[in-house]
Amino acid sequence: MKILLTNDDGIEAPGLWAAARALRLAGEVFVVAPDREQSGVGASLTLHSSVRVNPVLLDPSLDGDGSALYPVTAYSVEGTPGDSCILGLESVVGGVDLVVSGINAGSNLGWDVVVSGTVGAAIQGYVRGYPTIAISVGAVTNPQFEGAARLLHLIGRQLSERPAPSSFFLNINVPSLPLERIPGVRLTTLGRRSYGESVSEEGTGPERRYWISRNRPFSGEPKEGTDIWALKNNLVSITPLDINLNYQGQMTELESLLAGVPFQLLGHRD
Ligand code: MN
Repeated sequence: MKILLTNDDGIEAPGLWAAARALRLAGEVFVVAPDREQSGVGASLTLHSSVRVNPVLLDPSLDGDGSALYPVTAYSVEGTPGDSCILGLESVVGGVDLVVSGINAGSNLGWDVVVSGTVGAAIQGYVRGYPTIAISVGAVTNPQFEGAARLLHLIGRQLSERPAPSSFFLNINVPSLPLERIPGVRLTTLGRRSYGESVSEEGTGPERRYWISRNRPFSGEPKEGTDIWALKNNLVSITPLDINLNYQGQMTELESLLAGVPFQLLGHRD
């Protein structure tokens, strides 16, 4: 099994290498990841300049414990997480059996997935039809990757034995806890907002600048069965995603609201 591994925390992030160690027990791992931290860049791509890709000399400790079944090859990309995934699949590595993005330090829950660089990279695997997993742990400081790495290994092994269902795109969040303190694993739905922004100002006049920080966790009880609810209860959440943002629920109301607009726009009935 060939696996493309990417992330948004950058090529030196410990979570990336925890994933590489876990996945090389299930298949041949190709790491193609940004050369620097890119959290929060979502699905952005570099379309107005060229992008350099550099081979990475692997940390010898990656093979030091003798447990490697398969080799790991790595490249660092002077671009975004989405660039990394595209360049991996379209050029540097080619087609794979599984795309993994992570393990991210910090959860990616609810509507935050549209801001997440971890999910943003994964989307490029999904839209190309590859089985794809985005995976995060619920802490930015001192994240514990062991549980998430173990889970990746198990899912990777499962996929090497049985093909993934078509349209396989999972967003996995694992509590940053030792496995013995995790009470369960849930298949979840995507919650709503999990973090809000604060804006602060500095300087005056033409020197005025603004900082946007995502540092306001939403309080209140999240809906049971959502990914936000699962993490709050120290459960592993596995949320199947697709990219269909289309909402059909308002069609009738909108038809009535916009009824006169086509005539006003075109000067005739359409
Ligand atoms: Mn990140």
